[in-house]
Amino acid sequence: KKDAGIGDTLHPKPVETAAVIGAGVMGGGISWLLSSKGIPVRMKDVKWEAIATGMAAASDYFGQLVKRRKMKKGAAKLAMHRISGTTDYTGFRNVDLVIEAVVEDLEVKQSVLVDVEKRIREDAVIATNTSSLSMVDLGKGLVHPERFVGMHFFNPVNRMPLVEVIAGPKTSQEAIAKVIDLTRKLGKTPIVVNNCSGFLVNRILIPYLNESAYMLQEGTSMERIDKALEDFGLPMGPFALADEVGIDVGLKVARILESSYGERMQVADIMKDAFEEYHLLGKKSGKGFYIHE
Ligand code: NAD
Repeated sequence: KKDAGIGDTLHPKPVETAAVIGAGVMGGGISWLLSSKGIPVRMKDVKWEAIATGMAAASDYFGQLVKRRKMKKGAAKLAMHRISGTTDYTGFRNVDLVIEAVVEDLEVKQSVLVDVEKRIREDAVIATNTSSLSMVDLGKGLVHPERFVGMHFFNPVNRMPLVEVIAGPKTSQEAIAKVIDLTRKLGKTPIVVNNCSGFLVNRILIPYLNESAYMLQEGTSMERIDKALEDFGLPMGPFALADEVGIDVGLKVARILESSYGERMQVADIMKDAFEEYHLLGKKSGKGFYIHE
């Protein structure tokens, strides 16, 4: 018997306009996705250089569609016009949903969330794309925590089909339903998961990346590890994946999991050194575990 999900019974008002805060790897990808489905997006960051990066990421995703003849050049151009940048909150009054995708830092996110709440309509939903932070901590300063919900996309947004939907302690069923409805319209699969550190996917994925780093420390080459996992049937190996995710981002999440789960998720030294000693970021900077031309 097929259960009726929350989204099936509440008939939420569809999201027609949205804003994304943080124009990084994820913000750029999420803006692209929304715009590709006809939803105008306001993309906010602290600096114009970052907005340019987010725009470039979105444009690159459209370029890939044009290249694969899944979209006409003119349509891609038009879709790019649906994304507009801002370094302040201009236009936020009009949006039905804001997706926060700034750096994975509790204090930064808390201050952004408190700030954005003052700039939007009462009925607008605030979603966070956090990978690992607790919804309880994130929603602490909000006046209306009932409209605050986790909407966790995966990287790269154009290829990854899943979105984790997370309720905070006070999140309303309406807010959850709205996000589930939007997720489906974006062509992704929503799953409602518990609010624990790392939620469902990262709680499994990060220890997998971390364990691979331990294996590298023990002397197995990363090419061998990656090849073995590809041969096993995964689309890419753990080091290629860490480069895709961003070593800085992966490390931040790994540390949060370590502080929640203790010894069993202790971060491998190679993971720390890659970012802290050698400043490797992964694909986005061209240098990670691999060199990316
Ligand atoms: P990123 O470092 O590429 O981008 C973060 C952006 O946030 C930067 O452009 C930065 O300028 C901006 N920013 C920082 N403070 C801000 C503020 N106060 N106001 C507005 N913008 C601000 O990071 P990312 O990889 O896009 O990750 C963003 C979020 O998405 C994090 O919470 C991360 O955990 C989560 N996430 C990342 C991945 C991934 O694989 N990279 C996957 C899923 C979720």
